[in-house]
Amino acid sequence: MNLIFLGPPGAGKGTIAAIVKDAYKIPHISTGDLFRANIKNETELGKMVKEILASGNLVPDEVTIKMVENRLGESDAKSGYILDGFPRTIAQADALSQMSLVDHVINFVIDRETILKRLSGRRVCKSTGRTYHILYNPPKVEGIDDETGEPLIQRDDDKEEAILNRLDVYEKSTAPLINYYKEKGLLIDLDASKSPEEIFEEFKKVVK
Ligand code: AMP
Repeated sequence: MNLIFLGPPGAGKGTIAAIVKDAYKIPHISTGDLFRANIKNETELGKMVKEILASGNLVPDEVTIKMVENRLGESDAKSGYILDGFPRTIAQADALSQMSLVDHVINFVIDRETILKRLSGRRVCKSTGRTYHILYNPPKVEGIDDETGEPLIQRDDDKEEAILNRLDVYEKSTAPLINYYKEKGLLIDLDASKSPEEIFEEFKKVVK
């Protein structure tokens, strides 16, 4: 099954993708995670996109499309995939349609206020990428990863100025994809303000 998870930053796409990945045995392909891994490993791509990610702006389409094309060419993506954070522009969606057939586009519906609360409290373990929330999903010891014992950090792009920019970028460049996929008959709305367990239950009902 080939799935796209569409929705603003902070809608919980990554959290649900991790659950769906295990349940359906398909890879979770997050373009944000791929860029962050490149930044951490100080690759050429990483150096090129570091500042862009910190600001919350979009990496140029050409670069992003190439990266996704390479990733979808790997053997584990042959049985299906969850694309999380891609496509984010009409040009990316057009490029994807040349690469692969999409079965469903899951649209995570959530209001701006809830997103701001979620993102500003998000903390991550840099080495594992495990995420927490200071109120909704706190670590056992404040500021420390439960498993590795490393200090948790706040992503640069989870700071308020970058969050507001990311939301504006979403509205301007990515929200038009809602109609794009609706017109193709692929869009399924999910209420993303609920808990991950409730969202996954709903997901199983609507995605056959
Ligand atoms: P995310 O983890 O999905 O919120 O992505 C973090 C950042 O990576 C975004 O704010 C962009 O700078 C960059 N990024 C991720 N996916 C894309 C994409 N499809 N197109 C352009 N930039 C992207």
